[in-house]
Amino acid sequence: MIVFNLGCENSHCFEGWFASNEDFEQQLGRKLVTCPLCGNAGVVRLPHASHIRTGGKDRERAPSATSTEAASQQYANVGSEILARLVEHIVENTEDVGSAFPEEARKIHYHELPDRRIRGTASREEVAALKDEGIEVVALPIPAHRLGKAH
Ligand SMILES: [Zn+2]
Repeated sequence: MIVFNLGCENSHCFEGWFASNEDFEQQLGRKLVTCPLCGNAGVVRLPHASHIRTGGKDRERAPSATSTEAASQQYANVGSEILARLVEHIVENTEDVGSAFPEEARKIHYHELPDRRIRGTASREEVAALKDEGIEVVALPIPAHRLGKAH
């Protein structure tokens, strides 16, 4: 399982999860890799390696939101096994802030709180408002049994 930082023609940055470099090249070649924010298929790999690492300094300011509704279609090009592992990884590497997500995401964006990766729930309207403010939010199909789980 490897992570690439990807960008679309609309200057969105997001992460792509692939079984291998070959898998990535193959999916890219077949235009199966699309931007989760706008659906653009003109995706390119950005030069930086994954920022997801345990204990490392994290420049990323893209909190993850969970919205099971939009997600199933969004990740239709990802195998269910890979998707399950992706969700597992994100659940383990983000802090669950629940319904406080929009507020927390804003505070992080405006540097009122230190950078960290969070997940939580937000309504469609809240997600739209966050995006309007330039806060990148990614919807994930996190299964109900993994939501709100205390560590
Ligand atoms: Zn995009």
